[in-house]
Amino acid sequence: MLRFSARVVVVTGAGNGLGKEYALGFAERGASVVVNDLGGSASGDGNHSSRPADEVVKLIQSRGGKAVADYHSVEDGKAIIETAIKNFGRLDILVNNAGILRDKSFMNMTEQDWDLVQRIHLRAAYLITHAAWSYMRQQKYGRIIFTTSTSGLYGNFGQANYSAAKMGLVGLSNTLALEGAKYNITCHAIAPTAYSRLTQDLLPPDAEENLKPAFVMPLVLYLCHESCTDTGSLFQVAGGWIGKVRLEKSSGAMVRRPNKPMTVEDVRDNWKDIISFATPLHHSTQAEQVTHLWDAIRKMNNNN
Ligand code: NAD
Repeated sequence: MLRFSARVVVVTGAGNGLGKEYALGFAERGASVVVNDLGGSASGDGNHSSRPADEVVKLIQSRGGKAVADYHSVEDGKAIIETAIKNFGRLDILVNNAGILRDKSFMNMTEQDWDLVQRIHLRAAYLITHAAWSYMRQQKYGRIIFTTSTSGLYGNFGQANYSAAKMGLVGLSNTLALEGAKYNITCHAIAPTAYSRLTQDLLPPDAEENLKPAFVMPLVLYLCHESCTDTGSLFQVAGGWIGKVRLEKSSGAMVRRPNKPMTVEDVRDNWKDIISFATPLHHSTQAEQVTHLWDAIRKMNNNN
């Protein structure tokens, strides 16, 4: 059985839905858990409440686990990390999960709808991860999860603000995986689907039974275990199905010819090859894509 004894975990937005399930899962396997939740509405409007975080902490304690509540907004990331340090003396795992929705068609989306969603999903994840980073670097150990969404990966009507923020988190995870490698800090992004108060009106009737947050939790725990040393991946996870997602690039076309001006017609005439995925490429590093590009340029020049 994979255990988290002596590990300290912060789960943001752990008062409901997916975050609650993660907090319960970590605690059941021996971790000390900071249950962060400001107890807000699904849209981020209205009053806050300590109840959701308190209830999860009570549940964990009633099962013999270790947990403490934290009611800060994720925008006060530094304070949340301090809660972990003050109560448990260290921090090993950070699950960036808190989130809200402000769905509107792009035409009707106000600057406030845009800004609030960027702040809670992307900026706050930066702030809290930055606060966690120095502890993790110092102890040469850390496990970080970012929560993205299929709405970002594939687009979703009415979620321009959310899609943009969620794809921002994929970029953040990719780069932190590189920067964290020599400190044994791993980072992953997950795109979950689960029945929760955020999605209950959007999912089909049998979703409550088939898309339980409990069917996402095991992946998050596995990625955060010390025995899992993979890093920089993106996973789609729902209903018990888990798969890895990566970028695919067409093999493309060199449309420029040596010593000739490059024209719009060159693009038009090569369009089929530019967009063809007949022989796709998958680069896993920046270096690979740079090499591929310069190979193409040199090949073209050599044809002079
Ligand atoms: P949920 O509404 O059930 O839970 C989110 C929790 O975050 C709530 O308890 C809320 O109080 C808390 N929260 C909101 N703003 C906060 C803030 N500023 N500070 C601290 N806590 C805050 O939602 P969920 O479905 O469990 O979603 C969890 C995460 O998963 C979100 O980031 C969401 O975007 C993402 N996600 C969910 C789905 C899905 O199908 N449920 C799909 C894709 C992505």
